Amino acid sequence: MPVSCRMCGKSAILKRPKTGDALCKECFFFAFESEINYTITSGKLFNRGDRVAVGASGGKDSTVLAYILKLLNERHDYGIELILLSVDEGITGYRDDSLETVKRNQYQYDLPLTIVSYEELYGWTMDAIVKQIGLKNNCTFCGVFRRQALDRGALLVKANKIATGHNADDIAETVLMNVLRGDIARLRRCTAITTGADGALPRCKPFKYTYEKEIVMYAYFKKLDYFSTECIYSPNAYRGHARSYLKDLERIRPSAIIDIIHSGESLSIKKDVKMPTQGVCSRCNYISSHSVCKACTLLEGLNKGLPKLGIGKTHKSRRLLDAAEKAGDSVKTETENSSTSSSTMKKEDLTF
Ligand code: SF4
Ligand code: ZN
Repeated sequence: MPVSCRMCGKSAILKRPKTGDALCKECFFFAFESEINYTITSGKLFNRGDRVAVGASGGKDSTVLAYILKLLNERHDYGIELILLSVDEGITGYRDDSLETVKRNQYQYDLPLTIVSYEELYGWTMDAIVKQIGLKNNCTFCGVFRRQALDRGALLVKANKIATGHNADDIAETVLMNVLRGDIARLRRCTAITTGADGALPRCKPFKYTYEKEIVMYAYFKKLDYFSTECIYSPNAYRGHARSYLKDLERIRPSAIIDIIHSGESLSIKKDVKMPTQGVCSRCNYISSHSVCKACTLLEGLNKGLPKLGIGKTHKSRRLLDAAEKAGDSVKTETENSSTSSSTMKKEDLTF
């Protein structure tokens, strides 16, 4: 017997991963878009006149984000300006292909695109970094460099805000990882819908409550053009375990994702837990809780052929660098989501 749409009674073609509701395509679009509009308006993510750089990798999350921000901006008259901003990490066979997708998106959505690259910002591509350090810790370099690259790119295009495609699954994974690592400072920050308001540029996550499966479903039914190959340097075993654990939980109880986010939001932190104080890097002026920021430390290690410099939490060499900096040592350095989550849902997973 055909299943009917819970909202309009027409025949349903999908089961909403978040709620389990049977819906027709149009009602799913409506529910998905309305929820994101609610997240944006209730979280006061944008103000009229904002120039918003959308972190665009060509992957499903950022492609859907660019599409939906444009749509909601027009539908609800947010009065914001959108710019696509991509970071080219210099990964042959992966990022060069995904950037081709973003270049097409620029015409499909009629949005301006700016690409900044690790090579021009740091003098190193990820290909060259992996050649030097191998496939261990490469994501640490990449993550730290990308964070700054996005900020620098956003300043370049005169944006006053950055929007990223981090979804609910990404955030729940990060909560789990921070609990497992006992990283209290990050645990507090990782569930915030807007971060960095006091630092470089505010970053917001309009998909904070949006399930990855629904993003894939939306992209699939809207026939959006996105790139779905995984990075060739993606070992990230720790996040991978957190991810598969979360997927197992979701299978048993779909609300597990939102529940973990809510738990992260409500955890209170004891008064005597030492939180880092924010300052600026003495070399590149980027916000940092040390006198030399993580990117400059990593870069120094690369340039000196000591790639382990700066790897780890409270690394000895980081303290040495801090001390050298305070003592007036002026070693010159180059100027400076998603996360690359990939979903391998098949068509069968999307429809009845
Ligand atoms: Fe960079 Fe992501 Fe590839 Fe790691 S998996 S190297 S963080 S793009
Ligand atoms: Zn720095």
